[in-house]
Amino acid sequence: MRRRTVPAARLRKTALAEALQVGLVEEIQNLLGVEAIEDLDFEALETAVRHRALQIAARALEQQQRFNSDTSDAASGAQRPCACGQMARYVDRRSKCFQTALGDLTLERAYYHCPACQSGFCPRDRALGLDGSLSPAVVRMIGAVGSTVSFEDGSGLLNELAGLHIVSKQVERTAEALGAEVAEDERSHVDPVPSSEIAPTLYLGLDGTGIPVRPKELEGRRGKQEDGSAKTREVKLCTIWSAESRDEEGVPIRDKGSVTYSAAIESAAASDTDAQRSEFAERVLREATRRGFDRAARRAILGDCAPWIWNIAAELFPSATQIADRYHVKERLCMIAKAIHGPADPQAKQWAKLHHDQLDAGDIDSIIQALTEHSQNCEEARKGIGFFQTNRQRMRYPEFHAQGLCTSTGVVEAGCKVAIGERLKQSGMHWTVRGADAIIALRCARLSGRFEDFWERRSVRRKVA
Ligand SMILES: [Zn+2]
Repeated sequence: MRRRTVPAARLRKTALAEALQVGLVEEIQNLLGVEAIEDLDFEALETAVRHRALQIAARALEQQQRFNSDTSDAASGAQRPCACGQMARYVDRRSKCFQTALGDLTLERAYYHCPACQSGFCPRDRALGLDGSLSPAVVRMIGAVGSTVSFEDGSGLLNELAGLHIVSKQVERTAEALGAEVAEDERSHVDPVPSSEIAPTLYLGLDGTGIPVRPKELEGRRGKQEDGSAKTREVKLCTIWSAESRDEEGVPIRDKGSVTYSAAIESAAASDTDAQRSEFAERVLREATRRGFDRAARRAILGDCAPWIWNIAAELFPSATQIADRYHVKERLCMIAKAIHGPADPQAKQWAKLHHDQLDAGDIDSIIQALTEHSQNCEEARKGIGFFQTNRQRMRYPEFHAQGLCTSTGVVEAGCKVAIGERLKQSGMHWTVRGADAIIALRCARLSGRFEDFWERRSVRRKVA
């Protein structure tokens, strides 16, 4: 658009700015009243002043030359292509009230109607990024609260912090729609990090965690309930981090800010006849490409030893070092100890401690021997034998430690809690797969520091559409 540099326009602009300022100062004086400063209810005052300041700003925006008087979005008789492929005709200018970061704002925009498909639209809404009756800044706020707390709490926070009245159902709809956009953006944008920014050693953790879902999402699925039914669906999580930092004892620890997450309710199983990778393998590959895992000088993959984890590791990164997450293995030993001795028996603790030490020392033979002694009477011990035999190459902890590798960071475990559990596993929650995936995508983007990049791409996309 041509820049207005004529003196008259500049004068009007200055006059408006001055009037605004004077108006606000007067308002504040009125709100302050004549009381002594000490007698003021400051909280009430700041809230009232903020509300008024935003209101004045909203009114000023509505009156701006460039805003509601700009009718370049349509001239009489104009036509525009409709989404259906036919042409829509200009009807008139229509005003609509939108919820914005400044409060309610009324905009006038050109309205088009398509006789072929009988639908109407306002091109300017799309250009400005207006969704339904919400401005982009409000949608962003909804994304922030909806990915962090329940939709109901989010509705309350928006009211308390931003003075917005948005019912929880709308928070849910908007956050899930935004999350679906984030998920789509994640699938289509894999910008690899420059090689100079890749840490010498990168770690990739894989894990799964069940989230409660609605009954219709479980039809025909086998689960862990006694009758064979399921209550949850498994979210699979891929975490990538570096651990160049050392603690006081020289043990490698996770570098602050180096963790990224990508997760979804996806299958990790590729059928034998199918040459294609599983959905989740594709996700792992995207995340690894983004982070430069495939280009790191040294790569390690950590997991709890569920078979799908090593299948993906072998399929995508056959040369990476496979490490059984020591945290998970120790948890398993605790579980076996309780199964052998009974959960309350002090011997269970002793047994676990002894075999934790053997595990740290890489003495897998002694663990297998101890399990064999109990295998007749204890199902968990019997199953444990197979587990330690199958995964012993992934438990060469003394060797891994000598190489300066992390073997039990808790990052993967914490990742499941932080990225998934804290938001999606609260009591009383029953997700749809679509809704859960959307909120997970939103959470992963925010926790991985990628929300801003997404937002910039979103804004550009809307401009060209
Ligand atoms: Zn149409």
